[in-house]
Amino acid sequence: MSISPLMPVYPRCGVRPVRGEHCHLISDDGRRFLDFAAGIAVNALGHSHQGLIGALQKQAETLMHVSNLYGSPQGEDVAKRLTELTFADTVFFTNSGAEAVECSIKTARAYHQSAGSERFEIITFDNAFHGRTLATISASSQEKMHKGFYPLLPGFKYVEFNDLEAAKAAIGPNTAAFLVEPIQGEGGIRIATDEFLQGLRALCDEHDLLLILDEVQSGVGRSGTFYAYEQYGITPDIMATAKGIGGGFPVGACLATEKAARGMVAGTHGSTYGGNPFAMAAIGAVLDVVPDEAFLADVRAKGERLRSRIGQFIGNYPDLFEDVRGRGLFIGIKLKVEPRGFVAHMRDNHQVLTVSAGDNVVRVVPPLVIDDTHIDEFMEKLSAAAASYTVEKAD
Ligand SMILES: *Cc1c(COP(=O)(O)O)cnc(C)c1O
Repeated sequence: MSISPLMPVYPRCGVRPVRGEHCHLISDDGRRFLDFAAGIAVNALGHSHQGLIGALQKQAETLMHVSNLYGSPQGEDVAKRLTELTFADTVFFTNSGAEAVECSIKTARAYHQSAGSERFEIITFDNAFHGRTLATISASSQEKMHKGFYPLLPGFKYVEFNDLEAAKAAIGPNTAAFLVEPIQGEGGIRIATDEFLQGLRALCDEHDLLLILDEVQSGVGRSGTFYAYEQYGITPDIMATAKGIGGGFPVGACLATEKAARGMVAGTHGSTYGGNPFAMAAIGAVLDVVPDEAFLADVRAKGERLRSRIGQFIGNYPDLFEDVRGRGLFIGIKLKVEPRGFVAHMRDNHQVLTVSAGDNVVRVVPPLVIDDTHIDEFMEKLSAAAASYTVEKAD
């Protein structure tokens, strides 16, 4: 037998982490890495955070799982906190980002179909990433995710990101909603313009469509506000959240206004694990830290320091770097070359972890709890990596 016991769908690298310490990861061969990937924008509180560990230990000893057949004081408490912190009136808990987007799509269709309309179509945007289930790959225009998995789920139409006129032109009699990331993560830290998101909001109001935001990556403080939509002066009708919300525990949520959720009545949707007490303890620990205004102001300040230092530095290597962009600690360095080689070089030769993304971008998504020593360490490693990469390329 030649297939690996782990289904070989990931091209895994040679780093095999076995321990996390705050903003560093230690691999099984004893190497120590600065973790500016954070599990792809997941470990918002870094590794080994005492509040998160304590909450999970306590919950594991008390009650780990019960069915959604029963009342959930743990779920009610966390849902209430999330509704107080956001636009939403109601929350469905999931186990992942893709499931949160799935629930968002179902909520949008049910909004129309529970009221006697047959509308089903969701307009999405080029280079979007919404997850790897059949519905969520169907929601993305990226053919590399479709190949081998046809037929796709019908009912999605793709238009250019940040092109409001194209979005408007795509609206038809069956359109139910727009689904959009305010800041595209996998797509390469591409930021929606104010006019675009505000324009989508206005189109939704005008045509009785729902605005679904996928904030799975941009949310939970990553972009410098609790959710990125706050920076646009608009609110969505439905929003998917995950990644940072569990600080490393696999959990997500679909948030909605009362009106948008009008079709989601008893018996329409469910999940065996969704919102179990263990997952609620993880979210509770993250909510104890991240939504605090002083914490978020610190994320914005650190993000600005890191971005401006990267911006000043990359001018030294105009053949390698093009620009730096982002909000908060959701940062992308655009290269003039394919980024995977440089990400691997930084990792293998300079012990710093980042993630490649679309549009030739290196994603820099550290834990939100970094301090200036981590920024210094990152800049030293980036600088050493750029110097040695140029030399290697010149050989
Ligand atoms: C990661 C991501 C998802 C999918 O989340 P999973 O937990 O991997 O299912 C969906 N949307 C966006 C924007 C993401 O970044």
